[in-house]
Amino acid sequence: MTDPAAPVPAARALPVMPARRDPRPGIAGLTEGEIAALVGELGEPAFRARQVADAVWRSGAADWDEVTTLARPFRAVLAERFRFDTVAATTIRAADGDTTEKALHGLSDGRLVESVLMHYPGGAGRRERNTLCISSQAGCAVGCPFCATGELGFERDLEVAEIVDQARHARRRMAVAERHLTNVVFMGMGEPLLVLDAVLGAVDALTDPARFGLGARHVTISTSGVVPGIERLTRLRPQWTLAISLHAARDPLRDLLVPLNRRWPVADVVAAARAYGEATGRRVSYEYVMIDGINDTPADADALVRLLRGSGAHVNCIPMNPVAHTPWRASAPARISAFADRLRAGGLGVTVRRNRGQEVGAACGQLAAEQAGEPPAPTVARRRELLEAASAAALRGERSAEPAPAGLGPVRRPARRPAGPGPARPGPRRPAAAPRRRGTPPGSR
Ligand code: SAH
Ligand code: SF4
Repeated sequence: MTDPAAPVPAARALPVMPARRDPRPGIAGLTEGEIAALVGELGEPAFRARQVADAVWRSGAADWDEVTTLARPFRAVLAERFRFDTVAATTIRAADGDTTEKALHGLSDGRLVESVLMHYPGGAGRRERNTLCISSQAGCAVGCPFCATGELGFERDLEVAEIVDQARHARRRMAVAERHLTNVVFMGMGEPLLVLDAVLGAVDALTDPARFGLGARHVTISTSGVVPGIERLTRLRPQWTLAISLHAARDPLRDLLVPLNRRWPVADVVAAARAYGEATGRRVSYEYVMIDGINDTPADADALVRLLRGSGAHVNCIPMNPVAHTPWRASAPARISAFADRLRAGGLGVTVRRNRGQEVGAACGQLAAEQAGEPPAPTVARRRELLEAASAAALRGERSAEPAPAGLGPVRRPARRPAGPGPARPGPRRPAAAPRRRGTPPGSR
């Protein structure tokens, strides 16, 4: 018999990347003041700072060689210290009649990250929107089993320029079609609140009128529920939108679907998100991936209503993209509609989203996973079997005995079991300490 408490192995992991990471930071990670200081340090007149900034943020240049506004020797000095572009190579795949474009970016050390550009035509009183979904980490330590990135395990954090350069690339590509980027969402690979310093630096660059120049209200940061990170954002009182990847309102199921729930239980996540909404006056949105027979029952809808009622929250129901090696699939459209109706009847705002670019694998991590190659069939079969056992246990209300995934940072307070909604019949629970790196078989890094 399969032990539901047994760790669910990753079906695959990215191959070890042999390339050495380029030690030069990307120029797009520098603030205006830092560029000015650099120019001064290099003994150049102050007006050069504007020229460098224009080259980075306004020109269509892809490399220092193309920045003809700067003298060749000055360019050479800059190139010795900073990369003009931290993305070494990009492969593009288009879908949905060219309205969705998936980019697989190779970084200097061979790591792969993805961004997805989605075009929403205007008309009938609506403005055209072009939304870019970007990555903050290569891989992800959280290990949600329905997510292709989670399946890959954690590779590394991105630096500020590596995040921003995904947007610079998109802008260059869009210039050809005379389209403009209107929104950026941190919903690509990685957990943004586990690499928060770099994400804040990137958001600063993206929303600075003197740099990328996007409106702060047009940025969304999505998190699987890193409570200390949400609290830090709340103290900053930003104008961006916060999205919480909830996927389950009850702890036993969320322990499985979003494993960091074992460190920060769902009630704590929602409490932190409510505090964010109150402090910023911004509506928090909740993402809910619909998985057939797992988290889409009337009881799940009722638990969600009890959890979010009165918070002015908005729920986005998203059919699960068939990406990971799981035994699960998306809920049928009728089931999603019934779920959404029940949420609405309970007073929540709801949108049913459609998946964009399924045929190009537009769920985060899918192209990178493809590059990693197909895992052996027995590994996939074992993973499916374990997930089936674990979800059956979760649906019986048993909490996970697995520790929280590694890579979530130091434990700041003891994990506690909240008086959350739902039939939480407690199962065995180990402390959140003694973390084990999930999703990464020994020797894979
Ligand atoms: N780590 C962050 C941000 C990146 S994931 C987070 O989890 O919020 C961005 C969104 O894509 C999340 O809401 C995630 O749950 C969703 N997602 C991941 N895999 C998916 C899949 N197979 N189908 C549909 N949505 C998926
Ligand atoms: Fe990480 Fe988000 Fe994927 Fe979960 S859904 S594994 S948190 S990227």
